[in-house]
Formats: sequence, structure tokens, C-alpha cells
Amino acid sequence: MEISTLCIHGSTDSSDTTGSITVPIYQTATFVHPAVGQSTGYDYSRVQNPTREQVEKIIAKLEKGVDALAFSSGMAAIAAMMELFEPGDHIIASEDLYGGSIRLFNNLSRKNGITFDYINMSKTEDIVRVIKPETKAVFIETPSNPMMQVTDIAEVAKITKDRGLLLIVDNTFLTPYFQLPLRLGADIVIHSGTKYLSGHNDTLAGFLVVNSEELSQRLRYIYKTTGACLSPFDSWLIIRGLKTLAVRMEKQQENATRLATWLSNHSRVTKVYYPGLVSHPDYEISKKQARGFGAMISFEVDSEETARKILERVKIALYAESLGGVESLITYPMLQTHADVPKEEREAKGIHERLLRMSVGIEDINDIIEDLAQALLS
Ligand SMILES: *Cc1c(COP(=O)(O)O)cnc(C)c1O
Repeated sequence: MEISTLCIHGSTDSSDTTGSITVPIYQTATFVHPAVGQSTGYDYSRVQNPTREQVEKIIAKLEKGVDALAFSSGMAAIAAMMELFEPGDHIIASEDLYGGSIRLFNNLSRKNGITFDYINMSKTEDIVRVIKPETKAVFIETPSNPMMQVTDIAEVAKITKDRGLLLIVDNTFLTPYFQLPLRLGADIVIHSGTKYLSGHNDTLAGFLVVNSEELSQRLRYIYKTTGACLSPFDSWLIIRGLKTLAVRMEKQQENATRLATWLSNHSRVTKVYYPGLVSHPDYEISKKQARGFGAMISFEVDSEETARKILERVKIALYAESLGGVESLITYPMLQTHADVPKEEREAKGIHERLLRMSVGIEDINDIIEDLAQALLS
């Protein structure tokens, strides 16, 4: 089945006898046992709930994984995943990461005895150089947030496979519609389901997808023990959002391509970071490993004043955190997603007062361009 069909027909509840087109919301915390020592397959909703099970099945199919676990947010998924590690373990991570992941690693995981090296993943020699006997995993985000750097997943997988390290890929920006990290050699895929999978800026969710039964069992144990599970209603919202994933991704990418080109030609815009532009340094890798470039654009303007003006003047592209929904959103990474990253570290990555990040939605592109044009007027 092709991916756009899977998005719509990936959730069929075989136990249903009513003919309901959609999966029911099993709004229950617990389940009656048929007899002593017997189970219907469901005992308590923290462990599993039929609605959540359906969304997990579709996500596992979409990502070509063995199993998928649905969490109450992307950060809940990443925090649970970190329970795979022990004091003394070392993880190599992309230097450009979602701010929440950096905060978790530096402030909670480090306290728990896990150490990190943050590196630019574009040169695989650099990964090899920082591997130590204690290294257990490589964590990448590609394209990265907000600098849109692309990592060659298959190249990194060659290194991790040889050494028995876990390769963990945050696939939030491209979704399985455009990129399949497990097929490229990753072991665990992470999603903030809040973004494109939900698609409507109305639900928080997170996913871990794994390539082995062994990882599935270890994570299921952590999952039922720590309990950040996705509620039945929110599971249903993700199932509903997924039905339009293919059309949304296509439209958002088409709009992003038009907008990136328009921004590149604007006199107040000094730099545009979009992997779909032929001028992007990682254009070729993106084309090789993904079916599309996504709809996230970061861009630099000529002054802090211009950046602030845009945020205050936009009417269609709303000034709000988050991404991936049908509404275009524009954010100020310095004050939002990366507010907790120390200034020096942040600026070294190019996240400064002139950098804006835009998640392009499905509005008419001419309206989005007109909106930005008026916001960029002096
Ligand atoms: C938003 C985001 C997260 C965190 O997900 P939440 O659902 O907000 O907890 C993790 N990684 C990336 C790339 C994100 O954009």
C-alpha cells in the first residue's frame, strides 16, 4: 500500500461490528477481566488502550517499524527513551537540536550521569573522533532545528552499526511521508506528533518507533512504568490528522518552495535556510535520502528591528511557537525554542536576533507572500 493510502486506511479496527468508518474513542481507564487470570488483551489504559493501539499501528506502518509507542508529547517520548541509558553512558548528538532536547540532555540527563558531545554531523570523521568505549548512541535531527542542516543518515548508520551503537533520529520535520530513517539504518525514530502528524496545531503527542522486538520490549516496559501515555481522545485526533498527512505535506512543501524563492530575492532578507533550494549546501544529500524537503524555512533579515517588526506585523503567518500545522507560524528561535540555550552557544550556531523560523501552512501562497511583503516594508 502506498503511503498516502496507508494514512487513510492504516487504522481498521477488526473488533468493530458496527461498520464505523472511524476508530472509536475508548474513553476508559480500565477493562473488566472475563474471568480470574484472564484478560481481553486490555487491562489498564496506561499499558494499552484500543484507540491508542490503532494510532501506534499506523505510525509503525508509516515508518516501516516493528513497533510504535504513543506518548503525551514529543518531550515525553524523548525523556522515556533516555531511560534506556545508565550513569556513565555517553551520547553523541547533533549540535543543532530542538531546544527542548538540549534542555533535557544538559539539565536532566547530565544530572543522571549521562554525558554528551555535540558535534556537526555533516562530517562523519568527526563522529568517529568522539566515540569512546562508553558511547552508546548517536542522536540526530535532520533537517535540524532551526538551522536546517541535513545529516546523511545512511553514512552515520554505517558507523553506528559497526560499533553496536544505537542510531536515534528525530524525524519530526520531514515525517515518514518524506523520509524513512529506519530504512536508512536508524534504530529509533522520534516524533513530536504535535507537529505534522497531528497537523492542526490542536494536540500534543509524541512517538518512538523502533526497528527491533528487543527495543520494543525494553521501551514498552519503560512506557508502562513512567506512564506518559497518549490519551484516547488525543490518539483519535492524531488518527484523524494523519488521514490528510500526504496532501498537507505536498501543499506545505509547494508553498515553502515558493516562499523560500521569494524570500531569497528580497532585499531585507540576507540568508535563507531551506534544503529545497539548490543553493543549500545539503541539497544533494536531502535529495538522496528523502522524497521531499519539507516546509520549514529559517531566514535571516538585515536587522533586529526588521525581525521584530515582522513578528508584530504579520496577520496570516501567526507569531507563535510550534510548527507543522495547517496555519503558517513564524517564530523567533532566540526567544522561543532556544531561549534556554546559553547565548554564546546559541550565537555560534547562527541563532541570533536576526534569525526567524517559519512553518509554512496550507493557505494560498499569494496571501502568505503578501503578508510577509507588508511586514517587511520599512
Ligand atoms: C516540538 C519538537 C519536539 C518536542 O515535541 P513536543 O511535542 O513539543 O513535546 C522535539 N523535536 C522536534 C524536532 C520538535 O520540533
